[in-house]
Parts: sequence; structure tokens; C-alpha cells
Amino acid sequence: MKYILAIDQGTTSTRAHVYNQNGDCVCGYQQEFPQIYPKPGWVEHSPADIWNSVRSVIALAVSGAGLSAEDFAAVGITNQRETTLVWDRRTGEPVYNAIVWQCRRTADYCKKLVHDGFSERIYNKTGLVPDAYFSATKIKWILDNADGARERAERGELCFGTVDTYLLFKLTGGKVFATDYTNAARTMLFNIHTLEWDSELLRLFDIPAGMLPQVYPSSHDFGEIEEGPLKGVRVRSVVGDQQGSLFGQGCFKAGDIKNTYGTGCFLLMNTGGEPVKSQNGLVTTLGATASGRPCYVLEGSVFVGGAVVQWLRDGVGLIKSASASERAAFRAKDSGGVYVVPAFTGLGAPYWDANARGTITGITRGTTREQIIRASLEGIAYQVYDVVKAMEKDAGIKIARLSVDGGASANKFLMQFQADILRAEVVRSRWGESTVLGAAFLAGIQAELWSETDVLKMLKGGAHRLFVPKMEEGERLSLLSGWAKAVERSRLN
Ligand code: ADP
Repeated sequence: MKYILAIDQGTTSTRAHVYNQNGDCVCGYQQEFPQIYPKPGWVEHSPADIWNSVRSVIALAVSGAGLSAEDFAAVGITNQRETTLVWDRRTGEPVYNAIVWQCRRTADYCKKLVHDGFSERIYNKTGLVPDAYFSATKIKWILDNADGARERAERGELCFGTVDTYLLFKLTGGKVFATDYTNAARTMLFNIHTLEWDSELLRLFDIPAGMLPQVYPSSHDFGEIEEGPLKGVRVRSVVGDQQGSLFGQGCFKAGDIKNTYGTGCFLLMNTGGEPVKSQNGLVTTLGATASGRPCYVLEGSVFVGGAVVQWLRDGVGLIKSASASERAAFRAKDSGGVYVVPAFTGLGAPYWDANARGTITGITRGTTREQIIRASLEGIAYQVYDVVKAMEKDAGIKIARLSVDGGASANKFLMQFQADILRAEVVRSRWGESTVLGAAFLAGIQAELWSETDVLKMLKGGAHRLFVPKMEEGERLSLLSGWAKAVERSRLN
């Protein structure tokens, strides 16, 4: 029996899962690490904390599974995307903390880029809209602000990488300096059409080309681990977390779509071999494939997903636990005309309205606690509906099913309402952790442990939960028209 170890280096924690040849997870370990908030809106991680958490979950997982290096066919890596590190090529010493994707420190500079008319050029090359979220302006910030960094970068002494690249560099003892298409596509420096770093964008952001890693397909022989309990095992996949989840959900064909219901919601639709230009405020990015030929993906996110349930629990105290929202929602029977638009931090795709604010409409003297809870869950599903419709419009594809994962996908009320409102099946696979599973599948395919067909067979087998739409069309249309009105009110703030 051969095994795969997959590392998921996430925003708040790091996991390592061990899978056997049948695709069963034999053990998994998770470790949180500190978040650093130097100023309001700024978020950093210590590179040493990230690296130590990775080393520690690897050691725990290998010993927890009772295995040694010879038992492993491959290691896979999936990671928080866009988070930016710059380090010394020779010593591996970082010149600054990792600047996390959430960090807004370069937001004003990005506003200026938009104002100066760079949006279209950047979108045409990278599929992204200029935003502080992506790596390019974070690299520039480090070069402009860390002592001596620009001079060292120009002398070729520094490396830039997203977290995957940094981990590969550390795991291989500094021998491998590489990333994959899905991570490169989120830097705002990579041309997703030519699959090359873009020299014009490098000039715009004043970033020396010598700092950038080699870019390979997600399923690739990246190199050998130099030390520790996995010494000698090869890293055979690297994939950004959302694309990892798309692959781990078996969304291999054009039109396949997944949503992760976490704090926010992340929707990705595979659009096949050709990029789709969005007219509806979605970004175009690269997805992972087993063949090595990249596929294109439309991506949209909802800022507040499961977070509305946290607000019900911690903000207004309407429920004691997240799972209690399900019972309350079923008890309510209907929302009685109440809508909760959870636009706490504005609205994302397809509205892109930073000034919208959370709004509750339709309250009467008879409105109950349960109805507000139910309307909050419905508010998550309506927002997902809006993004799916934008994707369908852009891609010219009508979806038949939505694959789901993430914490709030455990909520049966939410999943049934989602199926009803979308008029599409919602499928929750028996594998909870599709992100880390995606990295494991990509590595296992590269190691020739499995074929793509084997992977699909494993995913189809076993128990999964299917939610089939049941709502009458008249009711659905009337609910959707109420939602559209509630959204308009949330934008009047
Ligand atoms: P993240 O990776 O963003 O931290 P998770 O996938 O762990 O998110 O999901 C956590 C989110 O899911 C939280 O916002 C929580 O409120 C929500 N959540 C967890 N369980 C439930 C549930 N049974 N019903 C509704 N929401 C839930």
C-alpha cells in the first residue's frame, strides 16, 4: 500500500492529511498559528510560524499514521493564495513578514491604478481587477519599504513567492524555486493567455524579473524533500486552495461548478480550455488539471457567507451555536417576507458596491426570532444564486448541479434552500476536506497511483448527500423578486 501526504497551508491554520491508495484519509492533523495585525486593515504572518506549523503537522501525520518516508508515493501542497513572501535566495531568510491576502495596505495604490486607467490592460492579461488582494502590489510594497530590499532584488539576491513557493524552497533545502499556474495566476503579474510572467506588468510595478519562480502545471514533479520524516519523498503537486477544492470536488469539465461555504463563499466554475471574459464583475483565472494543460475558471466570491451565522451567534445572540440555526430555520416554516442582506462589508459580484450595508427588510409585529435566523441563511443562498447567475451569463452555460463544501455546507436547511432557489441539484460529497483532497489527487495522479478516471470513481463512490430542488416555480420567482428589492434597499445606505 502506498500513501500520499497532502499539506494545506491555510490562512489561520495548517493541516496535513494522509491518504491511502483507496483515497481514504487515514489521519489528519491541524495546527493554528498567530495572526499579526500591525495596523487596522493590515494582516501579516511570520514565515517562521508558517514553516514551523508545516513541519509539525508533517511529523504528527507521518507518525500518527505509523508510516515512514518509504511508504509515501508523493507529497501535495495546497495553500492560501496571494499571500506574499520575499526572502534571500542564499540563506532563505525572509526580508519581511508574509503579507496576507486580506491585507489592505496597498488599497490606495490600487485605487490610483484604476483611476489612471490600468484596469482593462491588467484584466486583459491577468483576468484580475486591480486590487490589494493580489500579490503584485504587496511585492512592490516590500521592495519599497523593507531596508535595502530593492537594491538586493536588483542584484538578484531576493526571491518572491506565494506560500507554496516558500514551502517548496524550504522543503527542498533551497534547491527548488517554483510555483504552479493556479498560484501564479493570482499574483497579477502572470499572463494567463501566454502562461508567462508579463514583462510590461513587471515594469509597471517595478519588480525585477529575476525574483520570480519557475511556473509549472499543478500536477508536476517539483522536487525532492531534503530532510525530516519525509526525506527523499517527491513533491508532486502544488495548487492554490480554491482550485484545489475545485479539483477535489471532481469539477473537471466545462460547466462544473463548486461553492465553498466558509466565512465567505468562494465559487469557481470550470470553463474549459478557453478563457471566458466576464461582463459581470467576475475574475478569470487558471484551474488545475491532471493533464498539465491548464483550464480556465471563472471565480466570484461572497464576502459574508457563514459569517452571518457567526453574527447571529456572537453579534446579536439569536442562537447558541452555528448548528442551532438549522433547527430554528426548519421550525420557522417560512421567512414571512423577511429578507436579510448580509452586506456587512459591502456587496461583491455581481454588484460590487462597497457602500452597501447589512439590511433587514419586511419585519412586521409578527416576525419571530426563527424567521430572522431563517432569512439570514436564505441570504447566504440568494447571494450564491446571484454569483451563479453571473457565471451562467458570462459562460453561456446553464448549470445542472452545484458541488459544495465548507463549514456551513453542513446546514441541511441551507443546502435544500440553495437547491430550490437555484433549481439545480446541490451535492455534498462524503469527503469534507476537498481542498486538501484536491492536492492529494493531483499528487497521486502525477505519481501514477491513480488516473483521472480512478479519481472520479473514488469521488462518486461512497455516500454523498444530494439535495434536489422541490420548490414550486411561482414561489421561487416571487422569493427572488423580493430578494432583488431587498438588495436595492441595502444599497441606499
Ligand atoms: P473558514 O475556512 O472560512 O474558517 P469553515 O469552512 O471552517 O470556514 O466554516 C466556518 C463557517 O461556517 C463559520 O462562519 C460558521 O458560522 C459556519 N457554520 C459552521 N457550521 C454551520 C452550520 N451548521 N450552519 C450554518 N453555518 C455554519
